[in-house]
Amino acid sequence: MTNVISHWVDGGVFAGDSGVTASVTNPATGAVTGEVALASVADARAVIDAAAAAFPGWRDTSLSKRTAVLFRFRELLNERKTELAELITAEHGKVVSDALGEVSRGQEVVEFACGIPHLLKGGYTENASTKVDAYSIRQPLGPVAIISPFNFPAMVPMWFFPIAIATGNTVVLKPSEKDPSASLWLAALWKDAGLPDGVFNVLHGDKTAVDELLTNPKIKSVSFVGSTPIAQYVYTTATATGKRVQALGGAKNHAVILPDADLDLAADAMVNAGFGSAGERCMAVSAAVAVGPIADDLVAKIAERARNIKTGDGTKDSDMGPLVTAAHRDKVASYIDAGEAAGAKVVLDGRHVTPDGGQDGFWLGPTLLDNVTPDMSVYTDEIFGPVLSVVRVETYDQALDLINTNPYGNGTAIFTNDGGAARRFQNEVEVGMVGINVPIPVPMAYYSFGGWKASLFGDTHAHGLDGVHFFTRQKAITSRWLDPSHGGINLGFPQNG
Ligand code: NAD
Repeated sequence: MTNVISHWVDGGVFAGDSGVTASVTNPATGAVTGEVALASVADARAVIDAAAAAFPGWRDTSLSKRTAVLFRFRELLNERKTELAELITAEHGKVVSDALGEVSRGQEVVEFACGIPHLLKGGYTENASTKVDAYSIRQPLGPVAIISPFNFPAMVPMWFFPIAIATGNTVVLKPSEKDPSASLWLAALWKDAGLPDGVFNVLHGDKTAVDELLTNPKIKSVSFVGSTPIAQYVYTTATATGKRVQALGGAKNHAVILPDADLDLAADAMVNAGFGSAGERCMAVSAAVAVGPIADDLVAKIAERARNIKTGDGTKDSDMGPLVTAAHRDKVASYIDAGEAAGAKVVLDGRHVTPDGGQDGFWLGPTLLDNVTPDMSVYTDEIFGPVLSVVRVETYDQALDLINTNPYGNGTAIFTNDGGAARRFQNEVEVGMVGINVPIPVPMAYYSFGGWKASLFGDTHAHGLDGVHFFTRQKAITSRWLDPSHGGINLGFPQNG
């Protein structure tokens, strides 16, 4: 019997009436494991209407009752996160331990949102003018949309919805159609945690569903994460209809290895950040920039480690799983072909890997390319696969220039034992998230996640205080209660006194 993956509305599944579905596969076997509904405009409107209907009640639910639901959600998630991790592995392919890591990083945002009463406190100024008080409050926006990518089906939605819900908004989540089941598991968990029906809804679909979210007047904001062309489209379209938008895009992350770096530490980091989750992370390192005479040693150390990576089914004892679809695997492999043809040296070739998994799985092993130059497509494009390119430069300035002239600016890292060089790099580099001897500098929940340049369209980053501000509107109030006598008619602009 076909596993049908439906929408989630008003606390239960909703089949919709589009009659259109997309196949969901297990990347480790190649088998179709489900059919996900692709919403029609009418389906999308039904989901949005449910979120709109639930908004007045949730907006007026007290902070203490809202926070009680969040605490329960956190406890349930913590108890049952292995179930969610296994679901992610079955549709995304990443190894279970990595999937558990993603859930834990999402859980940190839930924990941050549990402190929402403190984060929502406004300011109060007594006697701003004689017997006049001034104060500010933050209020929710209304129904908000979250549109997420395939590579973090749990963590990326959790960058947004705990804070959106804690601040009193209702949510329509549009997950990736490639791995849609995690979103339904999370929706059911919210129900178990006592969230009122209609506050958290899931809409499955493609461009039709997204376009309705971007243009429907009931949706007040859009939080998008995905590739840069779609992020730009989402930003342009939804801001044109007056919505608040944060649209996080693609990446091309460089790590700079200075000559004084601990090369063993740097090589470990390049392998972990280049090949973890098969390179399908927006913070993956895809260009290792070797400065000065260390390049040969660095390449040898990376190759020695990467050779031992076990590629296979994520439910087995593997280090690295398959890519998400056959088409994506083929596209990534074609970049290796192009790099080789353009003169890069293939030090380690993932195209001929022998995986521990099904023969129809979407396999590509760790690939290390040396002598990559900035004109090669393997360098210019976001590849989103297990391909690490080594670019050789002579000086720190050349390395910095590579990063600062790159259109993306998501994450970067520097490896060095020189505090002054690291301090200079953090000051000069035009990238939103910087690691110093740390390869994947994903900020804590109480800081905010976001890149610069083509990696983010909008003004606010995800979670942290930026998240609280994104999901609320500020209201400033001026009040006078005592002695409200006035000086008669005065058409002049009010002045303080
Ligand atoms: P994607 O852009 O293909 O899809 C993202 C979302 O947009 C999905 O929900 C998808 O259904 C929807 N979508 C796809 N095409 C659309 C279209 N034409 N019109 C409207 N909606 C459309 O991205 P992906 O392949 O799922 O994810 C990988 C990308 O996401 C990479 O580029 C990666 O760097 C990026 N990413 C960025 C971050 C970040 O924080 N900056 C985090 C994770 C992933």
